[in-house]
Amino acid sequence: MKCPHCNHTFALTWKEYFLEIWGRHSCVACKCRFKLSYSWLYLAITVLIALIIAGPATFLIVRWTHSRVMAAVGSLVIVLVVLLPLDRWLDDHWRKSMLLKPNKPES
Ligand SMILES: [Zn+2]
Repeated sequence: MKCPHCNHTFALTWKEYFLEIWGRHSCVACKCRFKLSYSWLYLAITVLIALIIAGPATFLIVRWTHSRVMAAVGSLVIVLVVLLPLDRWLDDHWRKSMLLKPNKPES
């Protein structure tokens, strides 16, 4: 990620990703708070990949287990296993960061 205030580039860790699941982060250098922007392309990519994975996964799990509950739970787990690393990568490398207003450095 790149800080929009000081342009410092730093890696998004899993801990920071899960602690700030809504995309609001603090720069490790200047401590300014910023958020990651949403775009239609970002939302389209994540939803499309989730659907591409969930469809065949649900079909196969229902076929193997004959249980819709197992298919729903299994598909959700499979989608999360694939989508969370992808979402973290998109947050770290692709989504643009914007300063929060008013911006106060974290204490
Ligand atoms: Zn900074």
